[in-house]
Amino acid sequence: MEFFKGMSQDAVKDLYEVVSQEMEKYQAMKLELNMARGKPCKEQIDLSDGLIDGSIDFAIKSDYRNYGILDGIDELKTVFAEVLGVEKDEMIIGGNSSLNLMYDTLVRGMMFGMADSERPWNKEDKVKFLCPVPGYDRHFSICQALGIEMINIEMDDNGPDMDQVEALVSKDPLIKGIWCVPKYSNPTGITYSDEVVQRLARLETAAKDFTIMWDNAYLVHDLYESGEQLMDIFAESKKYGLEDRIIMFTSTSKITFPGAGVGMLASSKRNADRFREQMGFQTIGHNKVNQLMHARFLPSAQAIKSHMDKHAEIIAPKFVLVDKMLEEELGQYGIATWTKPKGGYFISLDLPKGCAKEVVNMCLATGVTLTGAGATYPYKIDPNDSNIRIAPTFPPIEELEMAIKILCASIKVVVAGKALGRTYQAGA
Ligand code: PMP
Repeated sequence: MEFFKGMSQDAVKDLYEVVSQEMEKYQAMKLELNMARGKPCKEQIDLSDGLIDGSIDFAIKSDYRNYGILDGIDELKTVFAEVLGVEKDEMIIGGNSSLNLMYDTLVRGMMFGMADSERPWNKEDKVKFLCPVPGYDRHFSICQALGIEMINIEMDDNGPDMDQVEALVSKDPLIKGIWCVPKYSNPTGITYSDEVVQRLARLETAAKDFTIMWDNAYLVHDLYESGEQLMDIFAESKKYGLEDRIIMFTSTSKITFPGAGVGMLASSKRNADRFREQMGFQTIGHNKVNQLMHARFLPSAQAIKSHMDKHAEIIAPKFVLVDKMLEEELGQYGIATWTKPKGGYFISLDLPKGCAKEVVNMCLATGVTLTGAGATYPYKIDPNDSNIRIAPTFPPIEELEMAIKILCASIKVVVAGKALGRTYQAGA
């Protein structure tokens, strides 16, 4: 990235002086603004208060308040089987979190292997996973916790670099899988192109038990009417008899209540049966009361769409504001590039090499907490130290505006400082 294009050294120096003073003003304000995680704001959460409806009869078919039904109630399966494009017996409705199901899936892979494994993964010399970057930090933490070696895969606007993926998986049987957030990816907001989905669906892998962790967390989370379409990888993989590889996840965390929603998994019937059997040792069944509340509140794919339109009304202006401010504050200097997602929860910002950590630390010292620099990479190591994840949904819009002002000022001070060979010292 060529930065401060066309600006003289003196002009950069002037900019540095002006923005340093601006930073001092912000520091004196003793702010406490938090944009670290992609959480819905209060107004979004309020949209789902109707979920808790005292008039629901929980004892319709069988008594949903009692034990039983391991893999989820039929009413909610009907709704989400349609949304996910699967049969009801290909899905499992779990507890309050899809991340929990992802963790369980990989732990079971380690302990027992996948359907086509020759041995449990933990009996292999090593287990490796491909991690398109930048990506979701909690996926990487699961791998790290289980001792799974992570390999970075470059991403562009179409998704992971499939030449790189194909070259690696065709040779190495210890590469057991790949993480994918295929729609409105966390954090870049891109949606995988049809070509990428097709190539993933028919991937030739040295490992017989290769697993595609298809985390479709943002499948209904359009910000605008012109939402993006994701090709159905499950239908594609069935053409090649490779559907056992695909394990899809989603949840209502960012539809209703995060942490009090419903997580789910879908895969081939063969896998779903295997998981049901393994789950049976873990639980007698998940929270069916919450499942029925969700089925009543979101009775169809259309009801989900209308509900998500209300979310979009609240958060789209926040994304528009961030984009506008970044353009106004940074556009002319050529010191940053950022994504313009049509859905999901994040904007991904790239700075010149070696600047992200310093900017995040400067923001923190000025009262703005961002996602840690490096968090979007395996082992928290961003090889270029350039990526910052912006999560605009949670703060009220005035706070968001202030936080982005401070972020932009920090970027200017840090990058101008580097260009001038200076380091800005808070309060100096
Ligand atoms: N996957 C992705 C890509 C996410 O961004 C998030 C939430 N930030 C989750 C999973 C977590 O989902 P859940 O609440 O269902 O565990």
